[in-house]
Amino acid sequence: MARTPLIAGNWKMHKTVSEAVALARAVAAAADKRSDREVMIAPPATALSAVSGAVRGSRLILAGQNVAWEKKGAFTGEIAPAMLSDCGCAMAIIGHSERRHIFGEDNAMINRRIKGAMAHGLIPILCVGETLDEREADQTMTVLEKQVRRGLAGINIVAGDKLLLAYEPVWAIGTGRTASSAQAQEVHGHIRDLLAQLFEKGIAAEIRILYGGSVKPDNAAELMARPDVDGALVGGAALEAESFAGIINF
Ligand code: PEP
Repeated sequence: MARTPLIAGNWKMHKTVSEAVALARAVAAAADKRSDREVMIAPPATALSAVSGAVRGSRLILAGQNVAWEKKGAFTGEIAPAMLSDCGCAMAIIGHSERRHIFGEDNAMINRRIKGAMAHGLIPILCVGETLDEREADQTMTVLEKQVRRGLAGINIVAGDKLLLAYEPVWAIGTGRTASSAQAQEVHGHIRDLLAQLFEKGIAAEIRILYGGSVKPDNAAELMARPDVDGALVGGAALEAESFAGIINF
């Protein structure tokens, strides 16, 4: 089953509006040259509207870095799904390790966010990953299984392109330390088996599973060559057009 690779850039809390527009234009130019893959960026919310206008008509996909589960109301600091759509977003990153570990989001909250995104037509990217302590204690698969099962509890996926997962080992995010392609494949294969238990097997075969954690132009090709690695979620190397283009063109 051929899954179109997705190269996704998570800009986190970086870039003013003018910086974001300039970078997005450069990324859109790189994305437009590659019809064999999809390219997504998740700028900070403050820049989404301007970026959306600047890249309209390009192949570049926009995403929110998180999303609320309610439609509107007294939820200071949150962004509703329809607000992201209004800014041109098609996707939303949910459950990023920084949300889990710095801001205390748990699997139940992440599950609500995924349901909220899907109810409003946004495609969620559910991020999962183990800490170094958990890996060293041989808990990797147990932790990931819990994050996937609880994150997707009560959710039925009827088409494989309506959900993505991202495996991001916490010890590899922003550390310069990448999982080996064998380690990534082992986990991705396990996640796909799990998805086949949760949804139909054909659907599990269609769902893209991205790898994230210090992906750079020089390690992207080896990771992407693994059969269950369907793209990358990139932090640091997505903040400069040249390095991100190097990953887009892996
Ligand atoms: C991330 O934040 O999702 C990420 C993978 O960051 P980095 O590429 O910098 O490790």
